[in-house]
Amino acid sequence: MNRKYRVGILGATGTVGQRFIQLLEDHPQFEVTALAASGRSQNRSYAEACAWRLPGEMPASSRHLVVAPPEPPLDCELVFSSLPSDIARETEAAFAAAGYPVISNSSAFRMEEDVPLLIPEVNHEHLQLLDTQRAARGYDTGFIITNPNCSTIMLALVLAPLHARFGVEAVVATTMQALSGAGYPGVASLDIIDNVLPFIESEEEKIERETLKILGRMREARIEAAQMKMSAQCHRVNVSDGHMAAVRVKLARAVQLADVREAFASFTALPQEMRLHSAPERPIIVREENDRPQPRLDRDAGRGMSVTVGRIAPDSVLDYRFVALSHNTIRGAAGAAILNAELLLATNRLGGIP
Ligand code: NAP
Repeated sequence: MNRKYRVGILGATGTVGQRFIQLLEDHPQFEVTALAASGRSQNRSYAEACAWRLPGEMPASSRHLVVAPPEPPLDCELVFSSLPSDIARETEAAFAAAGYPVISNSSAFRMEEDVPLLIPEVNHEHLQLLDTQRAARGYDTGFIITNPNCSTIMLALVLAPLHARFGVEAVVATTMQALSGAGYPGVASLDIIDNVLPFIESEEEKIERETLKILGRMREARIEAAQMKMSAQCHRVNVSDGHMAAVRVKLARAVQLADVREAFASFTALPQEMRLHSAPERPIIVREENDRPQPRLDRDAGRGMSVTVGRIAPDSVLDYRFVALSHNTIRGAAGAAILNAELLLATNRLGGIP
């Protein structure tokens, strides 16, 4: 490829939007040419509209771009969306109808039957749904693909090798989720200092539903959801970035602890084979220390794209237990969407230029 693919970011000023800008700076295949956000930010340069909250300077290449309304046409060939889900529903459909591939973080279309809920290491065959989607929705060059909820991505990625090798029959997951998962300004400081909040709106339902869709198989052009019992409890904790989950699994057959460890540690898939730019060398990193993973120490593993697993042990109620951790705005959001786009590009699915 001789030129870079021109991309727009919807919700560019937000928590996930800023990660997109950061991760796309100097990307070998994509360049940011359009930004959109709310009326508060429109018609201002990105430098004026956005209070940059990531370490380091706002990338110079985006500073001068003028923030537009999130509606087509935009000066780009595909859009990444990190809009609030209520806005995303109408907006993302409008972009897809206007011919733009839409690669979304929001929950608006995740559970639609004809929309891939994609983790390239886990279910790239779900991209077959794009043909169905185009036919059903009358899209031409446009389409919508989504990435999962930030905790679901981590959970589905670690369950995938266990399910493929041993069969997973039941999962109990208890999450401890970072503050950046709530966007900006997110949770009030007085609510979270010296505290844990045992409720995140719709999160438990999203994790339970989305995981079964992601681990489902394609059958006659539809996804047949995975058959396993799923139970999730979610908590907001006083951590800036990095979602953690304590997970227990019941497996379909008896396996040794070493087999479980090996299934995690040896897991690689299509993105690693294809050497996609954002694909980590190891999607799952196993730590042996008693006190790992930890958000501060492990969230940036694999440039924020690896899930770290530790505390793997037999469990006296289900079969095995472990703790997983990943970076919620990188593997859990912007990095996930960029990896999805890299897979689309590598498999020649980004054809039409609007
Ligand atoms: P955020 O920090 O609140 O940012 C929201 C963005 O959407 C801002 O750019 C905002 O623009 C824009 N926006 C808000 N209302 C709008 C409107 N009416 N019209 C156009 N633009 C509007 O939220 P976030 O955490 O980045 O989350 C964005 C999406 O990603 C959500 O759907 C969320 O569920 C999903 N997500 C987030 C995470 C995470 O870890 N944070 C992970 C996975 C998925 P202004 O600055 O102009 O208001």
